[in-house]
Amino acid sequence: MIIVMKENATSDSVEKIVKAIESAGLKTHLSKGEEVTIIGVIGDKSRLDTCAIEADPSVSKIVPITESYKLANKKLHPEPTIVKVKNTLIGPDTMTIMSGPCAVETEEQLMCIAKAVKKAGATILRGGAYKPRTSPYSFQGLEEEGLKYMKTASEETGLATICEVTSAHAVESAVKYVSMLQVGARNMQNFELLKEVGKTGLPVLLKRGLSATIDEWLNAAEYIMASGNPNVALCERGIRTYETSTRNTLDLSAVCVLKERTHLPVIVDPSHATGVRSYVEPLAKAAVACGADGLMIEVHNDPAHALSDGPQSLNFEQFDSVMEHIRPYIELAGRTL
Ligand code: PEP
Ligand code: MN
Repeated sequence: MIIVMKENATSDSVEKIVKAIESAGLKTHLSKGEEVTIIGVIGDKSRLDTCAIEADPSVSKIVPITESYKLANKKLHPEPTIVKVKNTLIGPDTMTIMSGPCAVETEEQLMCIAKAVKKAGATILRGGAYKPRTSPYSFQGLEEEGLKYMKTASEETGLATICEVTSAHAVESAVKYVSMLQVGARNMQNFELLKEVGKTGLPVLLKRGLSATIDEWLNAAEYIMASGNPNVALCERGIRTYETSTRNTLDLSAVCVLKERTHLPVIVDPSHATGVRSYVEPLAKAAVACGADGLMIEVHNDPAHALSDGPQSLNFEQFDSVMEHIRPYIELAGRTL
């Protein structure tokens, strides 16, 4: 539940309520808006004398949070969260572009892609070092070696970096080299992994599971947040439907639903959503138009020979063109790159 304080409530009266809640063994979460302060209560409410709290003259009302996700819930935190990744902000005023290869292949490859995506306007370099491939015989990633190349590319270009982690061991390595961790679609409900990334405090991009409902996805975000990490961004990357013309079906309505239910920023990944490079631009435009806070787009120096996801990867010229064509949409949305 949340306790909405009256507009004129003093910080002493807020503190008094917080103390009463915490001394009953529950946790609190303060959200100070421009006009009102909201105290979120997390834990077993039956231990609390809610009548006494509601009767307090500084309290306006008590609103129950019926959803199982609390920290991720917009009711608890009405203002949009801004996630900081190195020097980049993911939030309501910006359009954050995360680009790079599906997989880190060589140091030279990554460096040349990093320079190209930076020039076109990306601020976060993506690159997989631990690849959760459908077939065990496909390229599995360079692991720690790939992470080292990510760090070098970041030092050379100033870009922030994001890399998927697939195990606790990968998390332990990744925190030494990258600015943001990615939990991929296949691991969205790997609760032990969610707790591990939660313990790091590094910003986390949580991709939507292949067949996950929005509710399950927000509960997965709650796992990360409940482990002490509030720096979570969500990524819609298409869901599995009966349609086979595209790799997945991009659920853009999820962006609108999320904006209503959570304060966490939302990224859209048209590359994995479609698996087809020619669909990336129109869906990137649509994502910007419906309120996304950023885009993840796969870019490769030689897509025809990419070790993974070549068909959906853009070459440099195509990426430059997409960036140029989405700029007016970004401006219209009142955001800056
Ligand atoms: C990726 O970003 O490279 C990836 C594997 O994405 P997803 O988890 O969305 O399939
Ligand atoms: Mn990929």
